[in-house]
Amino acid sequence: MLPTVKLSRRGATRLKDGHVWVYRSDISANGIPPGALVSVTDDRGKPLGTALYSSSSQIAVRMLSTASVKDLTALIRERIVAAITYRERIVENTDAYRIVFSEADFLPGLIVDRYRDMLSLQILTQGMDADPVRNAIITQLDETLKPAAIVERVDARVRELEQLPPRASGLLKGEQSSTTFSMNGVRFQFAALEGQKTGAFLDQRENYAAAARFARGEALDVFCYQGGFALHLAANCARVTGVDSSRPALEVADQNAALNGRDIEWIEANAFDLLKDYSSSGRQYDTIVLDPPAFAKSKANLETALRGYKELNLRALKMLRPGGILVTCSCSYHVGERDFFEIVGSAARDAHRPVRLLEKRGAAKDHPVLLGVPETDYLKCLVLSVS
Ligand code: SAH
Repeated sequence: MLPTVKLSRRGATRLKDGHVWVYRSDISANGIPPGALVSVTDDRGKPLGTALYSSSSQIAVRMLSTASVKDLTALIRERIVAAITYRERIVENTDAYRIVFSEADFLPGLIVDRYRDMLSLQILTQGMDADPVRNAIITQLDETLKPAAIVERVDARVRELEQLPPRASGLLKGEQSSTTFSMNGVRFQFAALEGQKTGAFLDQRENYAAAARFARGEALDVFCYQGGFALHLAANCARVTGVDSSRPALEVADQNAALNGRDIEWIEANAFDLLKDYSSSGRQYDTIVLDPPAFAKSKANLETALRGYKELNLRALKMLRPGGILVTCSCSYHVGERDFFEIVGSAARDAHRPVRLLEKRGAAKDHPVLLGVPETDYLKCLVLSVS
């Protein structure tokens, strides 16, 4: 018999509406061990399914199934295979993509990315961190994909929040710690154990190709990281400049450019300062990409975040030549698609530059959006034509 978590009426309604999380304020649970598999019931004791429990997170319950689960590790192994099969059907033009995207693959708390012959794994919850579960994950990935190496990427803050003992990032299988991969025919390095964030922003992969389709002339990739957009733009642009505040990211960007035989200028700078200087000195571009980090990490800093997006977009719009292309992104879940449209629209009015929408895009298909779980729908990417 599994321990039982009873939900408040509000908690149960959340599940009935399609979500898979229940917050601590909506449950009653006593003495349940961290990370346990639990039965979930509504306030009258009616069974709602099976979940993984966290004793420390505000998200206390993450649903696994509306049925009862007898063998947790078997279920996890089955779902990993299903996630891999799904990618085989939907992913193209790359050997780097997300294999498991947590809730969106019915494996809450687990993220797995593939970089050609290597896998990078992240464990985000007590439930997924339990030894039998970890072992099942690693064994199944290894059996199905036979990677040269599996690395674990640890976010110390996540472990602290989940009250899990500290752990270092490192190899779980094999000895190889770097490789090269390709997206849309463009090549990149992957060094698993170095850098600020190891790996690429795979969720932008299809947006790189879309941006490249419309890009031309002189291009500026702002918040370029390791050059994802810049390297794609280079195929169709006469000159490309990438800007980022992180020197290590730009060093990798430069290696990536060499790998592709591209000549790109990389500038280490604060994007806000650089855009201010460049726009006031009258610099002009034909294509600008804005892909800042998530400014709104929570609802609390939404106002500041919106101001940040507005400023960036306003300056970029002013610098575009007539007929220019603006590719503008937001990966803040708290800034919804409507909010983002409004911000970019108001920047366009202030800049006196009518803007037409060419494409409204989200994350690549290997980062599925699960209907009912709005948090899985976080990335917005607008491709705009600026008159
Ligand atoms: N476009 C990239 C991803 C960008 S992630 C890609 O497709 O791969 C956000 C980047 O913004 C990070 O590389 C980070 O170093 C950089 N960054 C954060 N704050 C910045 C600032 N104020 N000025 C310039 N770069 C910044």
